[in-house]
Amino acid sequence: MFISIVELQESVPLWFWAIWAFLVGSCIGSFLNVVIYRLPRGGSVNTPARSYCPSCKASIAWYDNLPIISFLVLRGRCRACRAKISWQYPLVELATGLLFLTTLLAFGPTLRCFLNCVFEAAVVALIVIDFNDQILPDAITLPGLGFALLARMLDHHLVGLPWMNLFVEGLVGRPLPMTGLTGSLVNAVLGMAIGAGTLWMLGVGYFRLRAFPIRTPEDLTDFLKRRCVVGTLARLKVRRASGQRSAVYVIGGDFSELSPEELAEAEFAPSNAGSRELSMTALDGAQVEAGERGVRITSIPDDLEQTVEGRLEPGDTIISGNLEGMGLGDVKMMLFVGAFLGGSLTFFVLLVASLLGVLVAVPRILLRGQVAMQHALPFGVMLGIAALLALFLGEPGLTIYLDFLSSFLT
Ligand SMILES: [Zn+2]
Repeated sequence: MFISIVELQESVPLWFWAIWAFLVGSCIGSFLNVVIYRLPRGGSVNTPARSYCPSCKASIAWYDNLPIISFLVLRGRCRACRAKISWQYPLVELATGLLFLTTLLAFGPTLRCFLNCVFEAAVVALIVIDFNDQILPDAITLPGLGFALLARMLDHHLVGLPWMNLFVEGLVGRPLPMTGLTGSLVNAVLGMAIGAGTLWMLGVGYFRLRAFPIRTPEDLTDFLKRRCVVGTLARLKVRRASGQRSAVYVIGGDFSELSPEELAEAEFAPSNAGSRELSMTALDGAQVEAGERGVRITSIPDDLEQTVEGRLEPGDTIISGNLEGMGLGDVKMMLFVGAFLGGSLTFFVLLVASLLGVLVAVPRILLRGQVAMQHALPFGVMLGIAALLALFLGEPGLTIYLDFLSSFLT
């Protein structure tokens, strides 16, 4: 006999689905650990096919690679070399398992549940990679955007579209399609515009606000070696010998303090700006002198692979420097998140991520002073956590927020 999906859902008890969701989630978490470790190091996720110990490179047998359980059995150490295994591994497995379980309980065994789980897996990887390496790889965000649009075609997601439409109608003077496939895609476009648009504008604003004037050679050293964390993209405003102004991007930070292993990793870390490899030096070996309204470069070693974009030449005058606070990685992440969640929930994500950002930044600045402000805040972590919260709490959260606002307005 033929049984429909609905009959199947009804015939299988919920606890069975719940256990299954947790197990699948923790296995996916185990796979995410591989992605989280290998992607920022430029490695392939598929090769080598077997997991290996980062310390001794011994491949890990299947019975030592069971999510959560193996970590407990091995008491957090590699079987071959006894090197400590990071707590991050079981934590990611447990978190993904619990997320899938919660999704199943909230949405039931449905298509929406499945799509949300795929979304959650990508977001968990982004959160941990941004936390560890301060990058949000294109290899996740761009396919993620494709997935989000496909998900919207399969499952028409219209959450919050009516009240988002009030704004749009006010702006353009006519209502948007609010039903079915068209409504779902309209909501995706709203989410992308609100999420990526806001972050792009913030990034541009941040860029212009935090300019460090460079007057003396000491200012230049101070900016590149002390203010920039190793690997930070710094933007130098330069006046060319011809009088023309341009911007040159260099990698800041004092690389001389890194160990050879760290140095090797720094060199091959993919940047948010694209897949170009980062150059290693912040103008080491260049000769400079205090010039008129800036620092003039007198000579640069020929073999210095100095920049990521643009090139400094003898005769150029460096006028000021900016730290790139937010890379385009955040913008691309919000294209993906915005398309999946739609306009209203994306608004929720921005709101909650900013709140989380303040909650994390204030104690850091109070404890560590100015220094903490110079360090790039991995905002992708906050955006990711807010995106996960939006799946479960976004709709009630927005209703409370709107009631709160309207109680002020009326
Ligand atoms: Zn080992």
